[in-house]
Amino acid sequence: MRIDVVTIFPEYLEPLNVSLVGKARTRGTLDVRVHDLREWTHDRHNTVDDTPYGGGPGMVMKPDVWGEALDAVAASGEGEGEGAPALVVPTPSGRPFTQELAVELAAKPWLVFAPARYEGIDRRVIDDYATRWEVHEVSIGDYVLAGGEAAVLVITEAVARLLPGVLGNAESHRDDSFAPGAMADLLEGPVYTKPPVWRERGIPEVLLSGHHGRIARWRRDEAFRRTAAHRPDLIERCDPAAFDKHDRALLAELGWEPGPDGRFGRAAGAVEE
Ligand code: SAM
Repeated sequence: MRIDVVTIFPEYLEPLNVSLVGKARTRGTLDVRVHDLREWTHDRHNTVDDTPYGGGPGMVMKPDVWGEALDAVAASGEGEGEGAPALVVPTPSGRPFTQELAVELAAKPWLVFAPARYEGIDRRVIDDYATRWEVHEVSIGDYVLAGGEAAVLVITEAVARLLPGVLGNAESHRDDSFAPGAMADLLEGPVYTKPPVWRERGIPEVLLSGHHGRIARWRRDEAFRRTAAHRPDLIERCDPAAFDKHDRALLAELGWEPGPDGRFGRAAGAVEE
């Protein structure tokens, strides 16, 4: 996969040289190219922003500079037989970034990231590229950062670990929280490693039992407990057909009950864990 990032702070993307993403780059699984947006400015001050039409505080990133930059990045892929890239624009007003979107982006051959600063990029840039490229406006959470570079790091890491050959153990992301499959829509429960006793704290006996069925059951129960405590919305959204008898009993014990449509909700008066 090829990833281009256009930013006014190329040094902010240094972490892409480290750990999993860094190794994927060294191995050639991931081709990451970071570009300084100011290379496409033409004035003495390398201006990338201007005052907003309609007034108001803050500055807006200029469409002409972004347009030249994105055209140049796209042109650099032409000789390499790449089609049009998918453009990823981090913004708090975008679609929430989820594991599902990470899987979708991991299937693309080429992503171009346009992280903004100030009050964001002139809207016409997104509208213009959306006529030719696939464009994803993505939010990494309900908070406002000073710039989109941290969002690029988050999205790139989530995507890169899904690429074939990037994780040492291909099974590693199978049971992740939010991973599609058996534990879909449940958060992952606690994990333990050696030593068996640390600061007088042992580990759950079942994990030493070697009994795969009991271990799987315990993991599922813990996933339910954690999801009920931290993300009740995920349980509320779950298709109850995915729950077995044991799940239902555990949910009842945790203070949940099925509503008229069969979906589970917190019973009135249930105490939060
Ligand atoms: N006024 C803008 C708004 O409320 O939508 C916020 C602009 S923010 C100060 C500057 C840039 O940081 C954004 O254009 C975006 O690139 C990035 N950013 C901030 N919060 C983000 C979030 N939650 N997810 C993704 N990108 C974010």
